[in-house]
Amino acid sequence: MTVTVLFAAGEALWPEYAPHLRAAFDEAGLDAALVTEAEPGAVDYIVYAPGSPLQDFTPYTRCRAVLNLWAGVERIVGNPTLTQPLCRMVDPGLTEGMVEYVTGHVLRHHLGMDRYIKGAPGWQQIVPPLARERVVAMLGLGELGLACARALKALSFAVEGWSRSGKTGLDIPAHHGEAGLEALLRRAEIVVTLLPRTAETENLLDARRLAWLPQGAVIVNPGRGALIDDDALLAALDSGALGHATLDVFRIEPLPEDHPFRHHPGVTVTPHIAADTRASSAARVVAENIRRGETGEPLLHRVDLTRGY
Ligand code: NDP
Repeated sequence: MTVTVLFAAGEALWPEYAPHLRAAFDEAGLDAALVTEAEPGAVDYIVYAPGSPLQDFTPYTRCRAVLNLWAGVERIVGNPTLTQPLCRMVDPGLTEGMVEYVTGHVLRHHLGMDRYIKGAPGWQQIVPPLARERVVAMLGLGELGLACARALKALSFAVEGWSRSGKTGLDIPAHHGEAGLEALLRRAEIVVTLLPRTAETENLLDARRLAWLPQGAVIVNPGRGALIDDDALLAALDSGALGHATLDVFRIEPLPEDHPFRHHPGVTVTPHIAADTRASSAARVVAENIRRGETGEPLLHRVDLTRGY
């Protein structure tokens, strides 16, 4: 029987995603109708993205999964009408993009490239340490954090990670808990935050924890804006305790023109471009989850609604 897949990710994404989704359904051998409107009771799967007008999932009584096109789920995970399984996006294209963003910005700070790009006068030879001498803290060791940590390790950085559960058996030293975070931050010259926004991670890097970092440390945040206390970050930059912050994500997006981050010499703002879901590879992930839903196999990348990620 034909399965009905409602594309509720918004009109703007439809022209890009529709051909890739249809091709991926064919490739997976799915008999699926991709539609933008349907009787809620007749919908089998919902393809979703933040900003979608669909906010009430109650009438979608037959829906077997809501398939989010983005990795972050903070704008849907707390929706009280959502009783259907929710899957987030783990897309090879998105992961590759994040690895490129993180390695690029870490190398920029590690090599002190700004000095030369801005045209340092004279002939002051400041030779950076080797990557193996630079401790990088990766906060978050999920799909993206681990991939970035491994790429930095391949460049010889002394990468160590931190996550909620405390992972064992990784090829990267992994810490957990408050004591693990403090021990790591006290040694980390570069911190990368790749955590989801949840009640537990909000303001994780507040004034107290920022103060654990060595003088002049740098933060690269492509995770979520709310992970860092904005005021504490600005104060640490102003005092010189922190050397720089490269921020891709913000509490309010687009970042208002008059926000202090916009004009602060110690802040680099990138407009949430660290990594984008790529329609061609993401469509295959959606198709695979529908195939699994139809055969009764466990869905991929299922979100734990109580944990929030
Ligand atoms: P995952 O769910 O795969 O990984 C999340 C990681 O965060 C896990 O290691 C998890 O720990 C850890 N974590 C969660 N809560 C806590 C906590 N309270 N304390 C410590 N660690 C915690 O997510 P992804 O790696 O796929 O994505 C991470 C985030 O990156 C997304 O949620 C999104 O916010 C952001 N993102 C940003 C993009 C951009 O363009 N800027 C693009 C895509 C994603 P554990 O392993 O123990 O479960």
